Amino acid sequence: MPSVYEKYQLKPVINASGRMTILGVSTPEQEVVDAVNFGLGHYFEVKDLINKTGAYLAGLLDVEDAVVVSCASAGIAQSVAAMIVRGDPYRLEHLHAHHHEVPSEIVLPKGHNVNFGAPVGTMVNLGGGKVVEAGYANECSPSQLAAAINANTAAILYIKSHHCVQKSILSVAEAAKVAKTHGLPLIVDAAAEEDLRLYYNQGADLVIYSGAKAIEGPTSGLVLGKRQYVEWVKQQANGIGRAMKVGKEGILGLTHAIERYLAKEKESGAAMVAKMTPFIERLNQLPGVTAKV
Ligand SMILES: *Cc1c(COP(=O)(O)O)cnc(C)c1O
Repeated sequence: MPSVYEKYQLKPVINASGRMTILGVSTPEQEVVDAVNFGLGHYFEVKDLINKTGAYLAGLLDVEDAVVVSCASAGIAQSVAAMIVRGDPYRLEHLHAHHHEVPSEIVLPKGHNVNFGAPVGTMVNLGGGKVVEAGYANECSPSQLAAAINANTAAILYIKSHHCVQKSILSVAEAAKVAKTHGLPLIVDAAAEEDLRLYYNQGADLVIYSGAKAIEGPTSGLVLGKRQYVEWVKQQANGIGRAMKVGKEGILGLTHAIERYLAKEKESGAAMVAKMTPFIERLNQLPGVTAKV
């Protein structure tokens, strides 16, 4: 078989940038690839597969429930839809058909209304929500967040990311307090973050992760959180979620990748330098090239 790079005339990539969507994000380890392959090679009762892998992950992470989705963006859209539909069978099937007389505004700090490769607002709109910005581009306090809430608010959205403004923006714990005071759910997009328990423990009701970034799983996403909300996210499989379906291979691959990720020691700086050193030494043998850690 000719190399894929030759067959399609692709440029070979040495990824020195980390987990970038534009470069193919990550290359899962063999055990994860095996889990993906097992998924591809077998049949399952898919609802059972979704529920039981979700419950297994929830047990590993010590959260109420979890569900594997097709990617973090799909997780945002389906979480928003979940908070608008809230299990109503008519709204589930007619989300975009017309206006529904239920809260649909999603409040987020203005400094979090970013483009992570696609706009956060587009994912909110896909989920049937309307973005309401709180505070200013460079500032959002708990009271500024609260000021944007009204009777039409469905949820608060918090984006935990290097893409966002970091200074003078309230913390996840503070946002959770505002949400609780107003009886609203807090959704946290932690797509590229490394700690799978932190934001849940800080009071978020739903937390969303990208499967191929820190976790180094297949293309997929994880939504974890409070049982009722996760249940409503799962129901979106019969609504907008169908257009962003995750396959059995993605479900089994991510579940195994998370198990491996949690068991793995975090790589130390010294270990990274040790791994880099032979590569750097060989680069330095190339004429005209100077490289250092
Ligand atoms: C990468 C990223 C996403 C999208 O994740 P996908 O799994 O590629 O959909 C969403 N939000 C943030 C902050 C991200 O960094």
